[in-house]
Amino acid sequence: MRYVSTRGAAAPQRFTEILLEGLAPDGGLYVPQAWPKADLPSWRSLPYPALAYEVLSKFIDDIPALESLVKRAYAARTFGGEEITPVKTLEPGLHLLALANGPTLAFKDLALQLLGELFEWILKEKNQSLNILGATSGDTGSAAEYAMRGKRGIRVFMLSPHQRMTAFQSAQMYALQDANIHNLAVKGVFDDCQDVVKAVNADAAFKAQHRIGAVNSINWARVAAQVVYYFKGYFAVTKDERQSVDFAVPSGNFGNIYAGYVARRMGLPIRKLILASNENDVLDEFFRTGKYRIKRKVQHTTSPSMDISKASNFERYVFELVDRDPARVKDLWRRLEADGEFDLSHSPYWPRVASSGFVSGKSSHHDRLSTIRMVFEKYGLMIDPHTADGVKVALEHREPLVPLVCLETALPAKFAATLREALGREPQRPAEWRHLEQLPQRFTLIEPDADAVKRYIASH
Ligand SMILES: *Cc1c(COP(=O)(O)O)cnc(C)c1O
Repeated sequence: MRYVSTRGAAAPQRFTEILLEGLAPDGGLYVPQAWPKADLPSWRSLPYPALAYEVLSKFIDDIPALESLVKRAYAARTFGGEEITPVKTLEPGLHLLALANGPTLAFKDLALQLLGELFEWILKEKNQSLNILGATSGDTGSAAEYAMRGKRGIRVFMLSPHQRMTAFQSAQMYALQDANIHNLAVKGVFDDCQDVVKAVNADAAFKAQHRIGAVNSINWARVAAQVVYYFKGYFAVTKDERQSVDFAVPSGNFGNIYAGYVARRMGLPIRKLILASNENDVLDEFFRTGKYRIKRKVQHTTSPSMDISKASNFERYVFELVDRDPARVKDLWRRLEADGEFDLSHSPYWPRVASSGFVSGKSSHHDRLSTIRMVFEKYGLMIDPHTADGVKVALEHREPLVPLVCLETALPAKFAATLREALGREPQRPAEWRHLEQLPQRFTLIEPDADAVKRYIASH
């Protein structure tokens, strides 16, 4: 399999050539040159690691150790059981796909645990090391740290806003004692952290000298890893391949639901991909109206991992809508940069949005609370605020006779304050996290200043 850029000006690359890269040199995103086909009947009864290997080997054909790396990434003890992503049935035809049983209780573990194995393998192969620099408001940073802890050749420098995450989220990161993990608590907000990361990355000489890398959501390996659980969820709720299924996905950067689109392109019988936005509704607006309008300001909400102003993986989907014509993609993104928006509603591409399976809706703080309450009262189950956004929009699009699978993207324990507001009680917490906030914490307080961060990296 070779990978091409959505902007068309980069030479096709093998998987191992794009694994450690972010954007393609022409500013586009890498996508596979063609969609591989799934072999549904023979994949149906495979355990998760074997299924993951079958799906991933369609995209990754230049890593001889892939099978053993996949096995290590999806170990039962990392994800609380052999199933890795079990289905919880709320009532006949309505299910949750539990994606948040990994080390940091959010679905990002499923991609990052694999990324940790792949990175360690390729760095050893190339006899190189890598310093991962990132900024986090909660979920991505901790998933990256738990995936990279103790890995040879890798150090993580993670910037987080001092005293601005939930107590659970900061304790989860700061309790790590591994020597290769560096938590930098920035005296500022998340945007300050991001600005510092941008400023450090803008210094090309520093970046090259210190081998600075990233684990952001546009990394193709992350997308590919996420394709697997759509198959797993589909097989869990169907008897054979004649049955179509709808999936509902609480969305931010469009990485998770785009993986569902990839599964559909591979031949998985997905009827609808139901996208749920929170108050930051750029994606919902696009799927309803054909207008993609970047927001100037991100609204901080109670489903914070969906708080985005633009969706970084969206370009991959638009590339498909315009028949993989890079000139059109470039033109649309030129307009986006100039005007902050583009409009496909009167173009020949708009009808393809519906035929690609996407529908959408949005959910507010009030909707989130009432959905958490409804699910608890009706099914006796606590769900997190992101999952609640998904369930709320899913039910608006539900159709009789079509199984509906809502992706559970985090556990409620991570968002205790919102659960208390909705239910007046504490969310359950997995036993191993019971005393998390009492563990000794290890972090370095730092000014929101790129030079201070560069000095820290250089001396560590
Ligand atoms: C990251 C995240 C999302 C959004 O996923 P995208 O791939 O960015 O669309 C939703 N819910 C939770 C809990 C997350 O951590």
